[in-house]
This record gives sequence, structure tokens and C-alpha cells, in this order.
Amino acid sequence: MGNVIVRVVLEHPVPVLFDYRCDASTSPLPGQLVRVPFGKRYLVGLIWEVTQHSDVPLERLREVDALWAECPPLTAQWRALATFAANYYQRALGEVVLPALPQGVREASRWGRLLAASQIYRILPAGIEALPAALPPQATARRRLAAALHEAGKLTAAAARALHPQAIKLLDAWQQAGWVTQEAETAAQQVEATTATASTVNRLLEAAPELTVEQADVLEAIHGAHGFAPFLLHGVTGSGKTEVYLRALATLLAREPAAQALVLVPEINLTPQFEAFFRARLAAWPTDALVTLHSGLAEGERSRAWLAAHTGRARIVLGTRLAVLASLPRLALIIVDEEHDAAYKQQEKLRYSARDLAIWRAKQLNIPIILGSATPSLETWRHAQLKHYTRLTLTQRAVAEAVLPVTQLIDMSAPKRRSEAGLEGLSTPLLDALRERLACGEQSLIFLNRRGYAPALSCTACGWVAGCVRCSAFLVLHKQERGMRCHHCGWHSRIPHACAECGNVDLAPLGRGTQKLEEALAAALPEARILRIDADSTRRKGSAQALFASVSAGEIDILVGTQMIAKGHDFQRVTLVGVLNADAALFSHDFRASERLFAQLLQASGRAGRAGHGEVLIQTRYPQHPLYQALARHDYVGFAETTLAEREQARLPPFSYQALLRAEARTLEAALTFLARSAAELDALPGTERVTRYEPVPMLIVKVMHVQRAHLLLESTSRSALQSALRAWQPHLQALKIKDVLRWSIEVDPLEF
Ligand code: ADP
Ligand code: ZN
Ligand code: ZN
Repeated sequence: MGNVIVRVVLEHPVPVLFDYRCDASTSPLPGQLVRVPFGKRYLVGLIWEVTQHSDVPLERLREVDALWAECPPLTAQWRALATFAANYYQRALGEVVLPALPQGVREASRWGRLLAASQIYRILPAGIEALPAALPPQATARRRLAAALHEAGKLTAAAARALHPQAIKLLDAWQQAGWVTQEAETAAQQVEATTATASTVNRLLEAAPELTVEQADVLEAIHGAHGFAPFLLHGVTGSGKTEVYLRALATLLAREPAAQALVLVPEINLTPQFEAFFRARLAAWPTDALVTLHSGLAEGERSRAWLAAHTGRARIVLGTRLAVLASLPRLALIIVDEEHDAAYKQQEKLRYSARDLAIWRAKQLNIPIILGSATPSLETWRHAQLKHYTRLTLTQRAVAEAVLPVTQLIDMSAPKRRSEAGLEGLSTPLLDALRERLACGEQSLIFLNRRGYAPALSCTACGWVAGCVRCSAFLVLHKQERGMRCHHCGWHSRIPHACAECGNVDLAPLGRGTQKLEEALAAALPEARILRIDADSTRRKGSAQALFASVSAGEIDILVGTQMIAKGHDFQRVTLVGVLNADAALFSHDFRASERLFAQLLQASGRAGRAGHGEVLIQTRYPQHPLYQALARHDYVGFAETTLAEREQARLPPFSYQALLRAEARTLEAALTFLARSAAELDALPGTERVTRYEPVPMLIVKVMHVQRAHLLLESTSRSALQSALRAWQPHLQALKIKDVLRWSIEVDPLEF
């Protein structure tokens, strides 16, 4: 047989396919992974098309170096998803397809080893005889592996690895010794391995609590769904949304035993809690029926999890935003927990919204999707208003004794409160409430969305503030590290001992961060066991998990932290939540700031009283502000309706669609010139009447890492008008060459400005 031509997607910003010759006898298929020569290197890419023709003469085409025939091709549906994402977010296909694959899959040298994950090991008579004697008595883990193998006669690689971390190495050695054989599992066997039987599905429900009336109603609606059915599950904090997800999964697997479900959570830190919950209830299932997929996994784990999803072996894939691009050939249900969370938005490279792609996927596959939240995004709420999504509501907490916490606003503008400022902004009522909790052994949580010791260090004589040399931002004082840190670029420096302007040595920290609050609390309540959780205290991998566990175990009296502590965690013993310094977001230039603040504070207060009574104290200088008033009433709906009315009047999203053109340059002038020229190009394009173009402006933090940044906003009430304008605009942008401009990019549906 001769050659065919394969057109391959490679990670490359230029939106073209690369043609290669391929030996026809290898029967290349679209969706298969190949390694190809590219310049002086070799790259892994995905076959997009197989054809007979190329615009490049055949003799000049290079040849495919390796084809991963054992790995099933990525399906046409997955490729359609990638195509959609590339088009919608204005990127080259290769910038979607390749980053969606784990690194291990993108290294051809690892392909063989990855497939070992789907090997089956069988014990041979020689092994039955020799193995027990060959292992020393103290090698308990190895003996356990041998015993399991002996008992079942065979083991899958995944099952073996669960018994011993080095199982594959051991089994290979045992094979060398002639004690075991190995064979590759067929595709059908892989799916079979984790296919649910009626009895395992029933076991799912065995340990289950009796559903509340509201939960039962919600599930009835979900179970009655057919085809593409988007649900907004609007449930107050603690209403038992997780139980609803689990039951929806169980029902799906009872109906379609080989189906797959995708469960998205906004943060890596929330995956262990979910995983433990699902695993406890899925106890009768093979471990690899559930895999997690997030950026915190070691490379090998992540590749194995990705493959388990791709081969159909994983029934439930639990992951963060990147999991929305996983290959799931049997996907039949999608769940997006805390759908409002900004973490679903990728803020670099391909700036996608995992929630929005999840909805697109559900529509493409004609399957149900559940979007859960106590504070839905206004985009989602609007869809529910318009009946695009079915709204399901849980108004009560699931645990019978638990009621929603009582919220009090502490007026910090009152003269009496101002005089208490010496206590680092902790008002007397809040301190008293903390003491009360301490006295009766209950936990408190204090939310302050600012890490570090103090957000700035300033000269008391001339007002100079220590700034980052690389960014137009203040340096944050980190007292424990004895240093100053830039939260934009990571720049680290020593604490200056004198003012750079006037030489005055009397420098004072301005404002407060979590470290300072922790210090003040320790001084005020010396008997309390205080823990701080923020990005600084959890920098080490896995440390967040240990810290959260110590809270759950009751080893902590007061937990201080940033938004990391506000989300999703089911802390059973917290009865008091305090909120400090939240006011700034009320007056932000970003129209979504109040939506985010409301969600954050409602989530934070949702940590209180999950097992019984609870109280929330919010310190504010604006207690009459409608946002706080709505919060005190637990009135998400009121807040959403008012805010949506304001958005409608201002024609802001979700009543319009936006895109940003960002420019980064060595000088601000160059960035603005690039944007001005881009604006002129857009204005000259025909058919862009329905798109409003705003003037280029410098970004709020204009300089980061010596790079000057500016952007230009486009807006339209028609999504398709905006999309076609962007598409027509792109080639003109590519042609613009302006000195000192480093990069530019388009962001569709930006969330933050
Ligand atoms: P949400 O995600 O809605 O904030 P969770 O799913 O964390 O709420 O549930 C809150 C608590 O209620 C959990 O401790 C959970 O075990 C419990 N729970 C959920 N459903 C029920 C039920 N039907 N009966 C009793 N407890 C329940
Ligand atoms: Zn000074
Ligand atoms: Zn900096």
C-alpha cells in the first residue's frame, strides 16, 4: 500500500493544519494522536483529516513518525467541541486541542506506559506456588497485592495500583519470573470493568439520608427530563445540592449502565470533599469508576485519569474547569456546582468559560445539565427568567435542625465604632460574639478578602507608598516573611527601613490583610486556637487539605481567611461568621463587582450554622446599602432582580455581549496606538453597525512586569453580530505591525476588567 496524507493539528497560533505523509497500512483515522517532525523537533498532534491531496507537493511532505494506534481516536463530537471553542473564543484550533490533552499524552515516549493502565495481570500456576514464599513476612503491601491476585486470579492495573503504589513495577518483575502474564484489556472490557449493575446502583442509595420534600421534587423534575435539558438548581447554602447530584448520577447509571457523567467544581480544594462523598457512596464500585481531573494532579495520574475518561472506563469524572474539555465518549449528564464561580473562567491563553462550554456540550449531545448555586450568575438567572433553563429551588436547609443564619450589620461609620479602631478594625460586637463562641466551644470564621499583613507601607511624613519596581501597584507587606511582595508579579523585596522620598524612618502599614488580622485576634483572644487559610498559608501542595481537615476535626476555634474559606466547604461546627472590609467592592469600576461581592458574602455566611443555629456579623460603613440589606434578608432573588433591572437599563451583560481586545507593549503609548489603529480597522469594516466600540483605555493596573497594558471594549446586543465582527477583524489585527507591541489577544465574554 502507498501513502495517504494526514492533516494534523499542532499547538501553533497560526490557524492552519499541517500536512504529513502517512503509511496507508497504518490506517490513520481522524482523532488519532501522531508524532510528527516539525522543524528540528518532534511534536505530538492530532489527525484532523485524512485525505489524498495536499497543496504541498508530495515529495516535500514529511512523514508521520509514530501513530498511537492503540488509543481510540477522539470522537467527531469532541472535535466539534474543540472547533466550536476555537471559533467562539477566537483562537487557533491547535491552541484548544493540544492544551486540552495532558502532558503525558503529548509525549509519544510515554504512550506505551500509559496503556499499561489498562492491562490485566493473571497469576500463573508457578506464581501460585512461588509467590507466597518469595515475599518476606514484613512486606505487607506486597503480600496484600499477591493475595488479591491469588484470590481473584487476575487484577486490572488500576486495582493493583490501589493496593500498592509500585504495583506495575512489581507485576512486571513477577512476569519476568514467570509468575504472572499480562494482556491488554479490550476496549469493550474496559467499559465493562466499571459498568454499573443494578445492585451497585442500589448500594449507592443504601447509606443515603431520606430526601427532603424539596429534594424529592427537584429530582422528579430532573428524572423526567429528556434530551437537552438545562436545569438551574437554585438552592440555599446547606440545602443538600450534593445529595441531589448524587441521586441524579445514580438514576442515570441505573438507566444507562455504561454512561458517563461530568461533575465540575470551581476549585481544586473542593475536589477531595466531593470525591470522598461520592466514593463513600460508591463503595461497591471499582476505584477507577470515578476519576478526578485537575491541574494539581501529578502528570502520570492526570494522564491516566484522562485516558480512563477517554476509553469510557471512568463513569464519573470529577474535575475543575479544564475537565470540561475532557474526552468523554459516553457523556450523558453534566453537573456544574457553584456555577456562578469566576474560577470557571480561564484567565490566560484560551480564555474560556467552562460553564458555558459545558452548556454547549450538553446541547450538542442532547443531554441534561444541572447548574447548581445558592447565588446563580445573573447570566444564568436571566436564562431561567426567559425559561431557557428550568429553575428548581431548594429553599430550606436539608438538615432538619439547621436554619439559615441570622445576619446583622454592624455600622462602622458610627463614632463609637471608629474609636475602637485600635483593635484592628474588630468591632466590640464581633469580639464579644467571638468570645461567646469560644466559651461554648463553637467555631468561628472570619472572612477578609485580602492576604498579606497590610496592603501597603507608607511614609508618615510625606505619604510615599512602597511600590513594585515592575508594576504600577503597591507592594504588600508580609510581616512573617519579613518582606514585601507584589501580588501581580510576585516580586519580593525586603521591608524598607526608610522612605525612598524623604528618608523618614517612620513607615506605617496601611490597611489590613489576613496576617495582621490573625495577629490582632491572637492578641485579643490569647486562649483561642487560630488558623489562617489563604494563598500564602497553603502554598505547599496538599497543605490546604490538611488545614481544612483540622477545621473539620474541631482543632481550630477561629478560622481566618480569604475567599478560599468561603466556598462550598461543609464545616459542621461553625456557628459564627464575621465579615471585614467588604465595602470597597460597592464602589468598584467593574460592573460585576457587586454581583461577586453578594455571592461571596452569601457563600461565606452559608458556612454558619450548617448543623444548627448560626450568626453572621458584617462590619460595614454602609449598612443601608441595598446589597447588604438584601444579604441580611437572604434575598438573592431580590438582589438579582434589582441588579438585572439596572443592567438592562445600562444595556450591560446579560443584556449585551462583550469582547475585549487587550494589548501589551513596552510603552503605554504603543499599546494605545495599537488599539487606536485596531479601532480604525474595525470602523472601516462593513457590517459592524450593531457593534459598539469604546475608546482604548489603559488598564487599572497599567504596568505588570514592566509591560504596559491597555484594552478596548466591544459590545453588542447580538452575539452573532459580535462574533462575525471579531472574525472579520482578526486578519486586520494580525497584519498590524506596531513597534514595541509585545502581544495582543481577544477575550470573548470577559468577566473582569
Ligand atoms: P449545599 O451544597 O446545598 O450547600 P450540602 O450538599 O453540602 O449543601 O448539604 C448540606 C448538609 O446537609 C450536608 O451535611 C448533607 O450531608 C446534609 N444533607 C443533605 N441532604 C440531606 C437529607 N435529605 N437529609 C439530611 N441531611 C441531608
Ligand atoms: Zn517620606
Ligand atoms: Zn509587581
